[in-house]
Order: sequence, then structure tokens, then C-alpha cells
Amino acid sequence: MIVIMRPGAPKESIDAVIEAIEADGYKAKPIYGEERTIVGLVGESPNPLREENYAFINDVETVVRISAPYKLANRAFHPHDTVVTAQNMRMGGQSIQIIAGPCSVEDREMIIEIAHAVKEAGAVALRGGAFKPRTSPYSFQGHGEKALKWMAEAREQTGLAIVTEIMDTELVPMVADYADVLQIGARNMQNFALLRAVGRSKKPVLLKRGMASTVQDLLMAAEYILSEDNPNVILCERGIRTFETATRNTSDINAIPVLKELSHLPVVFDPSHAVGKWEYVEALSRAGIAAGADGLIVEVHPHPGKALSDGRQSLTYNRFESLVEQVNAIANLLGRVEDVQLAGI
Ligand code: PEP
Ligand code: MN
Repeated sequence: MIVIMRPGAPKESIDAVIEAIEADGYKAKPIYGEERTIVGLVGESPNPLREENYAFINDVETVVRISAPYKLANRAFHPHDTVVTAQNMRMGGQSIQIIAGPCSVEDREMIIEIAHAVKEAGAVALRGGAFKPRTSPYSFQGHGEKALKWMAEAREQTGLAIVTEIMDTELVPMVADYADVLQIGARNMQNFALLRAVGRSKKPVLLKRGMASTVQDLLMAAEYILSEDNPNVILCERGIRTFETATRNTSDINAIPVLKELSHLPVVFDPSHAVGKWEYVEALSRAGIAAGADGLIVEVHPHPGKALSDGRQSLTYNRFESLVEQVNAIANLLGRVEDVQLAGI
């Protein structure tokens, strides 16, 4: 943090800043200029830093925080990529990992069929909502625990990791019993009690970016989970709200390389919710992987026109197969081929 004094600030005001810094347990490093003095704050202290308090000292013009407020998610303190594993999924490793499945789990036969189809096409995990965050309370809300049982059955048959959304703190132990990865939806990204609860579960968490959240908000949300001693967090870019209405959301492709630079956590891209129309999902998937995402989470449905939720953005099996082929071609270009260990070499 640096404290910038007003031009010509008297010595008493500068000394007051230095004293305040020292009283907080840090070291003050003043730099006296011709016109203006700035005071840097360095070192470590158990006292939390309240930069806003410094703004009240006489003749302080601005207070600027330099270090990022997220520590555990920060690549500066953890230079190596984190790899989050669940069943055969290794998100954040060398190869691109694809999670696919319907928006909501609609019935037992369908989820088992979808699991086999997406696995055949190259997916490593099965997504599917049992508890759905719908804008309207009258829309289909999901089949709840029954759907989780069907997904667990699909895992037994295919070996796919199960990814499913959790919306309620009280349900964490139950959902964690069935799922391999707990999804926190965009609408709950800042539900701090829920973030702490999934953190305590120690299960891998797929954390979606809120639709009006900044990259830093997302990293701070991840920090809540990590601070419960759960290192298994996957960040997910799923599009943000902008003035654009041609697509459901606006894919923030920028966020992918930014997150990869700022954090060691794996980054997955959700082209389905980002763009909202199936005809653009392939193109956006290519863009996401080319930008450096570690994987994709894609909605797939055998009959998108009849889906109970998000049919408009869901891919048929054929379209999903073609997407995987295209994405693999890009992954090869980037040298993101199978891990040696996984390939059994
Ligand atoms: C979903 O994955 O089906 C979903 C509701 O996503 P989001 O939270 O990103 O809107
Ligand atoms: Mn959906």
C-alpha cells in the first residue's frame, strides 16, 4: 500500500501517517519529493490492513493498495498450476478436460444415455442439475436427490466424474455424498456461507463467475473456499451481463488468460451459458481453448427442443462430437496433449 500526500503536506501530517503505519505493525518508507511526499507501507503484520482509515489523516490525498487482496488463490505465492482431480478428470493438467451433460437431469434413462454418449465423444465428467437455480419459481426446479442417485448410477457405468450444482448450505453433506465436484452457480458466487460450507466439505468445487462480478470478485470468492483448507477449486468463466442482447451473455474471453496469470487455479470455460445459442457454442469453445482454458463445461441434450431447461443452448450428440474434434485440434496445436502418465507411456 502507498499513501500519497497532498502537494506541500506539512511534516506533522507525514509523521502522522508514519506513526499510523507503525502502530499497525508495518514499516513506513517515506519518499520525500520536491512537491509531494509518498509513504510506502511494507512488511508483515497480524493486523488486518484498513487502507480506508489512512484516508482520514490530514493531508492524505489517496491511498493505493498494491498487493492483491487474494493470497491463497494468488499465483505469486504458488507459482505452479494446481491440478484438481476427480475420478479420471485432471483439470489444470497438460490436457484439455471436457465436462458435458444436460442442464438438468430429467430422468434416469436419459442421464445414463447422455453419460455414455459424452464419454464416447471424449468427456471426462458428466454435468447435470438436480437443484436448478431458475429465474421463475414456476419453472422446473430439478428432481433433487433422486437425480443425484441417477447420476451416481451413470458414474458407476461410465467412470465419469459427477459435477452438479449446490444451492443450499444445509444440503452440502447430502450432495457431497453423491457428487465428485460441487458446482457453485453464477447466482451464488457471493453466497459466502455456501462458499465456506463447500470449502469445509473438502470436495472439488467448480466456482462459476457471477454474471456481474469482476475477475477480482471471482478470485475473492475462491479465497473463501481455499481459506477453509480446500485447495480443490476450479474457476469457471461463463459470460457476463453487458448491454449486448444478441447473445444471452457476453463471453469474457479476456478473463481466461487474465485468470491464468493471476492465479494457479484451473480455469474452465462454459460456452453454453456464455453465448446461450447452440449455433455459436462450437466457435466459442474454440476461442476458449485457444485463449488458454484448461477445459470446457458444455450442455448436451439428445433432443434440445424438448429439454426442460436451456434447450436453446444445448448441443445434440453429433454437434458435441464435432466440437470435441475441433477443440482437440486446437489443443494439439497448443501442445496440450495427454499427460504422459495418463497415456500410460
Ligand atoms: C448451469 O450450469 O446450468 C447454470 C445454471 O449455470 P450458471 O450458474 O452459470 O447460470
Ligand atoms: Mn443451464
